[in-house]
Amino acid sequence: MKVKYSLTLLLSILLLNCSKDYREQQSLSETTETVYTLPIVVHIVHVGESVGIGYNLSKERIYDQINTLNNDFRKKEGTLGYNTHILGADAKIEFKLAKINPNGNPTEGITRVNFQDVTIDVENDWFFDDLPYYGYWNKQEYINIWVFPLDGVLGQSSVPYINIPGLENANPNGTTGILITTAYFGTTNTINNLNLGRTLTHEMGHFLGLEHLWGKTENANCMEFDDYCNDTPLVSRRTENCDNIQNSSCNGEFALTQNYMDYTSDACMNMFTKDQVARMQYVLKNSTVRSSLITSLAINRD
Ligand SMILES: [Zn+2]
Repeated sequence: MKVKYSLTLLLSILLLNCSKDYREQQSLSETTETVYTLPIVVHIVHVGESVGIGYNLSKERIYDQINTLNNDFRKKEGTLGYNTHILGADAKIEFKLAKINPNGNPTEGITRVNFQDVTIDVENDWFFDDLPYYGYWNKQEYINIWVFPLDGVLGQSSVPYINIPGLENANPNGTTGILITTAYFGTTNTINNLNLGRTLTHEMGHFLGLEHLWGKTENANCMEFDDYCNDTPLVSRRTENCDNIQNSSCNGEFALTQNYMDYTSDACMNMFTKDQVARMQYVLKNSTVRSSLITSLAINRD
């Protein structure tokens, strides 16, 4: 079998923690003014369609998705990623499609592969580790994003390797990147509530070290894990609508249902908090297979 096409990838995504311990390692209250720009390569996996048809997404759809990602991470005014919440923060991280490929040649930062042309020699137990068969550029220089026609999962991300609470068990040698199911990549005209490209924003949060708001274990009755970010109210479960639900947090505060690390509809989301931004900045600057992205020459840095 060449590919496990409709995998049930409901593995709980390995998640990450903010914590007091790592705060003590570095003053995180002052978010840097530097804006970091990270290179992306998008691997489009299709089933033989022409470009722009079906799973073989158009360039415009890809550009739209990268634009949404940047609007969200930069809390850009005039976009759906803007908010006026007292805790809302600009992550000071941006993303660009690569301009130089691993061979040193010009690229649009997009690869396309027909999944029927890919032979998987040795299947891994975890489908995510099969993704490099569909394209994999040097993980030190590029954020690999696979856009794959799957069922049963919206997206998934690898976990950064860094010795801070919540990330101790990450595998530094594992496949590094982000999987997004095609239907949820970019703005679409589907009728579902996951049609505005926020799945990638959420997964990029994981890629840079963020936890779900409820931590690793859902429905733990507030007894087990937090997300270890002090400014996100402790919650024990996801929310799936757009309302700020009073008392839905463990201490009676409003839950941050507009947060990208909840499971609310795309239309509700517009916020990373200050502590989440501090966590992502710390991971980006200090984690193996993240910090090298800051200086990667795969994009223009003039
Ligand atoms: Zn998640």
